[in-house]
Amino acid sequence: MSDIEGLGLGPGGECLCPNCGYKIPHERGKPCQQETCPECGSKMIRMGKR
Ligand SMILES: [Zn+2]
Repeated sequence: MSDIEGLGLGPGGECLCPNCGYKIPHERGKPCQQETCPECGSKMIRMGKR
């Protein structure tokens, strides 16, 4: 198994709800797209540092 996740973005970061702006810490190994916002139920997107 590889330890490298998300080439270009790297580990860590946050998942952001594009609907209401709610943020949760990105869980390693779980894509943000699979997370749903606890506030509004929207699909979340990955926020990486640039
Ligand atoms: Zn939301």
